Amino acid sequence: MSMSLTKDTTSSAPIQVRGACPHDCPDSCALLTTVENGVATRVQGNPGHPHTDGVLCTKVARYTERSYHAERLLVPLRRSGPKGSGQFVPVSWDQALADIAGRLQAIAARAPEAILPYSYAGTMGLVQGESMDRRFFHRLGASQLERTICASAGAEALAQTLGDKVGMKLEFFAQARLILIWGSNPIGSHLHFWRYAQQAKRNGARLVCIDPRKTETADKCHEHLALRPGTDAALALALMHELIRNDWLDHDYIARHTLGWQALRERALQWTPERAADVCGLPVAQIRQLARDYGSTRPAAIRLNYGMQRVRGAGNAVRAVVCLPALTGAWRDPAGGVLLSSAGQFPVRRAVLQRPDLMPARRPRSINMSTIGDDLLRPTLASFGPQIEAVIVYNSNPVAVAPESGKVVQGFAREDLFTVVLEHFQTDTADYADYLLPATTQLEHWDIHLSYGHTDILLNRPAIAPLGQARSNARIFRDLAAQMGFAEPAFADQDEQLCRQAFGDAVDYARLQAQGFATLKLPDAPFAAGGFPTPSGKCEFFSARLAAQGLDGLPDYLPNHELQGSSARHPLAMISPPARHFLNSTFVNVRSLRAIEIEPLLEIHPDDAQARGIASGSLVRVFNDRGSYHCRASVSHRARPGVVNGLGIWWRKLGLNGTNVNQVTGQALTDLGRAATFYDCLVQVAVA
Ligand code: SF4
Repeated sequence: MSMSLTKDTTSSAPIQVRGACPHDCPDSCALLTTVENGVATRVQGNPGHPHTDGVLCTKVARYTERSYHAERLLVPLRRSGPKGSGQFVPVSWDQALADIAGRLQAIAARAPEAILPYSYAGTMGLVQGESMDRRFFHRLGASQLERTICASAGAEALAQTLGDKVGMKLEFFAQARLILIWGSNPIGSHLHFWRYAQQAKRNGARLVCIDPRKTETADKCHEHLALRPGTDAALALALMHELIRNDWLDHDYIARHTLGWQALRERALQWTPERAADVCGLPVAQIRQLARDYGSTRPAAIRLNYGMQRVRGAGNAVRAVVCLPALTGAWRDPAGGVLLSSAGQFPVRRAVLQRPDLMPARRPRSINMSTIGDDLLRPTLASFGPQIEAVIVYNSNPVAVAPESGKVVQGFAREDLFTVVLEHFQTDTADYADYLLPATTQLEHWDIHLSYGHTDILLNRPAIAPLGQARSNARIFRDLAAQMGFAEPAFADQDEQLCRQAFGDAVDYARLQAQGFATLKLPDAPFAAGGFPTPSGKCEFFSARLAAQGLDGLPDYLPNHELQGSSARHPLAMISPPARHFLNSTFVNVRSLRAIEIEPLLEIHPDDAQARGIASGSLVRVFNDRGSYHCRASVSHRARPGVVNGLGIWWRKLGLNGTNVNQVTGQALTDLGRAATFYDCLVQVAVA
């Protein structure tokens, strides 16, 4: 269908509008959008924001290309062909809202839990991501969604060890003398941290990358430890072993500010570097050297990221790593410690924004978003509750990004499933919608943001009027609430009011309006004298809360669900890190970015390629018992022997044969946090 874009033409002189990048990235950049005659002509980094420093990544620097994309959805659409055909006809908003409300009301009258919201971090904004939508589903009594697809294993591990998603301040990495970049590729996906790491490097710091893949970041570090996927806990325990054996410990810090030291000591002493080397596939000397560096360098900082926690033992691995700074007392220095996520430091008023009090007295069941493939296919069962009859998808593209996508597709293809999708584009998931509603982009709506990298709050003002008939997510849920007769005042709050409610008096809103961001007032070295937000106030090596659940109270190495060597038919371990110019499945349809990535790639080590007759550029099939997908081989030392890197996440319909890497990933969950295990996946590869 061809549609022309409607551009606001109300203003004349160019203006610059302050905003925030909405994408799932720890950098949370401050944006400056230039608007001329109502048209956004340029999106830049705000030079006044210290973390952004005027620089955006390649993806968002092209944001106008995305917002004014010829394929933007501009009017509500109703399905006109078979499920999944992607055939739609335009309808009015009134008609769409009335039909959707009617369908949801009929289901809710029988079984409100048969309605499922499905959303994630398509926008990180608190208003367009977790405000009016939550109020709507709470009031409806719909199933709760466990939002586990990316970060919940690490989040739970942090909660059990440090007390919350807390850690070092990002800017102090510039002053560290040693930085371990663990499970992260900042050149590709955390650019503004990399700037601080570079600053440290120029001042003489040593940079160490710990990652199964030889990333662009690994290329620029002094040392790269290419461990097997899912073995990070073994490495961390061996580092502890060496710290203990060589007495590179801060005994005073351990005594005052940690809990469970003797038990952890005994556990760690079982992990010799030799044992860990065998598990991790690393040279013993490399582990010993890393321990020596970590034990003898001050300040030493660890930038942990989510790459390491997409495997069975994810939570334990994060727990093991975040214990390290308490052993050496690294927390004493602002430039020492660890950072996985800073998100727990923001005083967000989630109860005010989301209004869980609107839920029925009996809390509805929860559905785990990481098992949507199985759950959409379940019938009504006493153990499960009612069959899912309706899904409302926003800020997510589950057909492309959820694991075991063969089953996800089968679920969304159910004729009896009523599916509503709020989107900018006709994604793989949108193809399965019964109603496809045009949503505004970040340039067109209000929002307010925290960050999981730095510690600034950012305000996003709309720079331009909504394109076509697009409406903000918050407005769509407000309109649906009105259609369904929800009379509570909470459903009257407008988008900017929601921005003000998010932090209340905890932020100077006038400052936010004036400069676009406001920095939290936090100590430079938050745990120099302990004071962790755990029940004990200490860094909990031993977690009584985990033990009370019947789990191991100490961190340990848990082998992958799909342990390499356990399957002769599928001998290769696969990880699926993001292609550099995509952010999960966002940006795949931006032509200039897709032109850089060209085709879905599988990096494979020369030894593994040779054994299979694969050359660079060969079309290959990657497969296991869950399915198969096609991609182009890149024979490269970026892959370690025995491990292949399937770069993601391509839209299925823009890939090579209508599938993508998630055709082979599985739905098994992590040890803590019930998260997805995308990198715990055995496959075989053959020339297609
Ligand atoms: S670096 Fe991250 S936060 Fe900054 S513009 Fe790019 S995606 Fe957005």
